Amino acid sequence: MVLADRVCKSFGTTQVLKGISLEVERGEVLCIIGPSGSGKSTFLRCVNHLEEVNAGRLYVDGDLIGYRERGGKLYEMSPKDAAKQRRDIGMVFQHFNLFPHRTVIENVIEAPTQVKRKNKAEATSRAEYLLERVGLADKAQSYPSQLSGGQQQRVAIARALAMEPKLMLFDEPTSALDPELVGDVLGVMRELAASGMTMLVVTHEMGFAREVADQLVFMDGGVVVEQGDPREVLANPQHERTKTFLSKLL
Ligand code: ADP
Ligand code: MG
Repeated sequence: MVLADRVCKSFGTTQVLKGISLEVERGEVLCIIGPSGSGKSTFLRCVNHLEEVNAGRLYVDGDLIGYRERGGKLYEMSPKDAAKQRRDIGMVFQHFNLFPHRTVIENVIEAPTQVKRKNKAEATSRAEYLLERVGLADKAQSYPSQLSGGQQQRVAIARALAMEPKLMLFDEPTSALDPELVGDVLGVMRELAASGMTMLVVTHEMGFAREVADQLVFMDGGVVVEQGDPREVLANPQHERTKTFLSKLL
């Protein structure tokens, strides 16, 4: 479902991603950990083409991200085609960015009705189902400001799912939450993983990584330092940098 082949990304003269390669099978969960500034967010942003890669290739479900190949040459996609490609990839950020002046259900039906041109009744019935899945059926008519951070994040997950993505990207989805609200969000993500969704998750929730992830990647300085079965990486890290990082988390 995801193939990254030596992905490089620079901002000006600063090289942030120095050849990231990884593969995620359909239905797998890959967790990415690593120190602040190691390029985790940049990598996720490249996957849905919010950032353009400078070298290397990214494929999602067999589609080359951001470029078209013609006669052995690569051509940048039009913004319209890139937007179309992005529709199949859901993203959940640390800050949920819900529309403050719309109700929960209006937030969830916004993209399906405006972008996918679904009719409102159909979008609403799917939104109701999704809100139930994230445990917020009774909050459909509330406004974001009336919800806790954890509830808002669960709405953000429902909103991403409303577009029926093939792949979900999570960038530290629980980092901004009060500790007692983290569990409900992780619970929703756990169920989503169990339902077969392919997920790339940047997180420092090691319990989640250990129990839910199929692969754990440790990034530092724009490279993948270590990757493997999360239980093995966490119990028996091979690299000094991984050991140091993990010891600071505990
Ligand atoms: P992480 O998510 O692992 O904390 P980021 O991917 O956010 O790391 O950032 C990696 C590096 O790239 C940082 O040094 C950051 O300052 C830099 N960076 C990220 N986005 C930009 C940008 N738009 N312009 C310039 N530098 C950036
Ligand atoms: Mg980040």
